[in-house]
Amino acid sequence: MENTIFIKTFGCQMNEYDSNRIYDSVRKIGFKRTANKENATCLVINTCHIRDKAKEKIYHEIGRIKKIYRNKSKPIMIIAGCVAQAENQEMFKREPYIDIVIGPQSYHKINNLLKNYISNKKEEETEFDTISKFKHFDNIENLNKKISAFLTIQEGCDKFCHFCVVPYTRGPEYSRPFNKILYEAETLIKNGAKEIILLGQNVNAYSYCDHSKEYRISNLINELEKYSELKRIRYTTSHPRDMTDDLIDCYASNKKLMPLIHLPIQSGSNKILKSMNRKHTVEEYMKIYERLKKINSEIEFSSDFIVSYPGETDRDFNDTLNLVKKIKFINSYSFIFSPRPGTKSSSLKTLDIEISKERLNELQKYLFNHQINKNRSFEGGFVDVLVENKIKDQPKLFGRNKYLNSVIFNGDSKDIGKMLKVKIESTNSSTLFGKIENNKEIRAA
Ligand code: SAM
Ligand code: SF4
Repeated sequence: MENTIFIKTFGCQMNEYDSNRIYDSVRKIGFKRTANKENATCLVINTCHIRDKAKEKIYHEIGRIKKIYRNKSKPIMIIAGCVAQAENQEMFKREPYIDIVIGPQSYHKINNLLKNYISNKKEEETEFDTISKFKHFDNIENLNKKISAFLTIQEGCDKFCHFCVVPYTRGPEYSRPFNKILYEAETLIKNGAKEIILLGQNVNAYSYCDHSKEYRISNLINELEKYSELKRIRYTTSHPRDMTDDLIDCYASNKKLMPLIHLPIQSGSNKILKSMNRKHTVEEYMKIYERLKKINSEIEFSSDFIVSYPGETDRDFNDTLNLVKKIKFINSYSFIFSPRPGTKSSSLKTLDIEISKERLNELQKYLFNHQINKNRSFEGGFVDVLVENKIKDQPKLFGRNKYLNSVIFNGDSKDIGKMLKVKIESTNSSTLFGKIENNKEIRAA
């Protein structure tokens, strides 16, 4: 019987990229990807540790898996990702059903772990071995065939915001070699990618030195711009401190760089930013915003917010609301502060949960309104859509506009991968609905 592997991915785009690369790796030792978690030889849960709820989801998922396999032979149960890194041996104690715990910097070891797997022998791999990991994956083709493809260029973080586990789970900042990234991009483009989304926990901190020349994310963007088959370039997630002049200049010179910038600010209060150790002020953020708007007034911002960070007063929270009224962010994420073990702010006194919920609701009301209004502004006009896939069992296509909004419209599979003009007829908070008047492809993004 052939070996099959099923991966459930929680968390960010970097985890999604990692899950795909795990598949590319285990394929080399005969494992086939399955979308059926009921009948797999090996099950992987790729985890996220950013907020506490994310961790609990894993144990619930294992509970469901145990039920499925109650009367079958037990699959090899692997926990990967940031929870694996943070909890390591503890996971075996809480859930003996787990066989292997593997952190994000050890994925290059997964083939050996599976080849040498002995039932009932627990294995844990949580070394920070980023260089070896990327060396291993540089020799394994990225088989992603999606129209919009992720490409990790940087991992880890040295900024140590006081609320965040990333520096502990993903380790120190590491930037992949410039030429290896371009090689992987070429493979993705050869396999059909029309959009590349460069990924990193601090993607704009990318810095790689070769023969005393420093390569930054701006150099990558400029190189990608040259591939005629590639239509769009995006990157995420950025830190305001790393919005350097060369990157800002890209928005003046690059046609394929999309005008949506995801730039987390977390709070509109300088006092809170300082106590979070964010290393930037609201004024510095506003300066970046204004410079970019001046280059191209079509540029929109999205952001991440944490409400009820310890010490946040009504006044601090109002500062956040005032900022949101000034910069009409679209597609933003907002969370109540979740104390993470091992981080500096985990020992601080948390705010009342009811007040926290009220603040989150209030903030989301504004964010949501901006999003609805922005979406409405498309009604009656045309948007350029990169077609990603056909919707199952419907004569409809799915794609995205330049601001990453989902767009659904009439059409069939032959238009996948094309850039089409779509007339928008109606919208809701998350999606634009429209129709194409002809399926002639447009050249510019
Ligand atoms: N590197 C990016 C930056 O500096 O802005 C953010 C990356 S972090 C993985 C994604 C988001 O999760 C953060 O921007 C923050 O809003 C949220 N987050 C991280 N730790 C959190 C915590 N302890 N509680 C609530 N939200 C948190
Ligand atoms: Fe976490 Fe981003 Fe701060 Fe790094 S810069 S510690 S990833 S929030």
